[in-house]
Amino acid sequence: MKSYAQMSREELRREYEELSLRFKEIKKGKLKLDMSRGKPSYDQLELSNEMMDVLDSASYFNDETGTDCRNYGILAGIPEAKRLMGAMSEVGPDDMIIYGNSSLNIMFDMISRSYTHGICGATPWCRLDKVRFLCPVPGYDRHFRITEYFGIEMINIPMSETGPDMDLVEKYVSEDPSVKGIWCVPKYSNPQGYSYSDETVRRFAALKPAAEDFRIYWDNAYSIHHLYDDPSEQDVILEILDECKKAGNPDIVFKFISTSKVTFPGSGIAAVAASGRNLKDIEKHMSIQTIGHDKMNQLRHVRYFGSLANMQIHMSRHAAILRPKFEALEDLFERELGGLEVGSWTKPRGGYFISFDALEGCAKAIVARCAEAGVKLTPAGATYPYGKDPHDSNIRIAPSFPAMKELIKAGEIFTLSVKLVSLEKYMGQAE
Ligand code: PMP
Repeated sequence: MKSYAQMSREELRREYEELSLRFKEIKKGKLKLDMSRGKPSYDQLELSNEMMDVLDSASYFNDETGTDCRNYGILAGIPEAKRLMGAMSEVGPDDMIIYGNSSLNIMFDMISRSYTHGICGATPWCRLDKVRFLCPVPGYDRHFRITEYFGIEMINIPMSETGPDMDLVEKYVSEDPSVKGIWCVPKYSNPQGYSYSDETVRRFAALKPAAEDFRIYWDNAYSIHHLYDDPSEQDVILEILDECKKAGNPDIVFKFISTSKVTFPGSGIAAVAASGRNLKDIEKHMSIQTIGHDKMNQLRHVRYFGSLANMQIHMSRHAAILRPKFEALEDLFERELGGLEVGSWTKPRGGYFISFDALEGCAKAIVARCAEAGVKLTPAGATYPYGKDPHDSNIRIAPSFPAMKELIKAGEIFTLSVKLVSLEKYMGQAE
């Protein structure tokens, strides 16, 4: 088929009329489909049910050092959980602290602590005139909402397939002492599914910040979340703590991880890895906040998995459910949109999202069209700080939650909406 860019006014009008009729028919179906959030599907949740059987009233509730997990104490996590989460995060057990059920909550806590009390003795951000954060875009909306909540000014940094624009990152970080951090999803990024190259990771590790309390917020949410079992089809990135240590910069990174998309979102375990100096500073704060996190859940996870190898087998079962969904959508996009010059999309090898870039100025209209036909998408703009996509182009697609049949239906409505909105743009230009 001819691309829309090459069609005459009359051809565009005919195509638009035909597709509008189809859209009208679909609307009559009063569908209710959700492709908005990166939630595991029902089938994925079912995979971890047996974890609920590893503890019952007859269980031995002590950790490996003999501490009773039913009671208060062990602020930083039981040793076997630190080992398991350390293995998942490619760091040693002593390089991390286990928190509660959410890594996002740890990130919020880090920013909050920096704001009220300061990091490692630095001036609390609330006493500074200006605090700025670098935000690779498109990125994770909930990161941006944390920094917005604290009134931190956010600066867009363009992403590419190898990671954020490092020339820009280096410039800001080394020249501007008000730049206190950068949000990173280094592996299977949200929403593009990109993984940082070795050069990008090394350049991060070698940053020379103007601010003593600058930190890289390294959210490794998708560390073992591959879509393919063959190692040659899995992304591998350098381990950041190690690289920072080698570069003489051990303190500039906080690395976050959780089992939200391994077991149960909201009922998993989360952890932060960092240098000894950072961990000590975090623990000081944490000891005021809590007498200890949920050690029974730590025990449940450790006894269920036993090792990283078993966790990886479990992840391959998730992949068997997720992979066909990603591939079905990608095939559909190619079939319906390929060659039309109406946008481009990513083809990730892991993570939870596909990123779609529509023609400039079309994203909001596409999301609105989808909503009209009963398909809920992440709001256009959400992948940018302040919800403002300067090109109104990026749309985050989350294939995980709907069942396959519904996903295909939602995908068809999406591609139809993309075509209609793009045609409107081309017809406007042809006038
Ligand atoms: N970070 C990223 C990049 C995510 O995509 C998500 C979930 N969508 C989270 C963090 C949330 O993690 P948690 O459940 O551990 O808070």
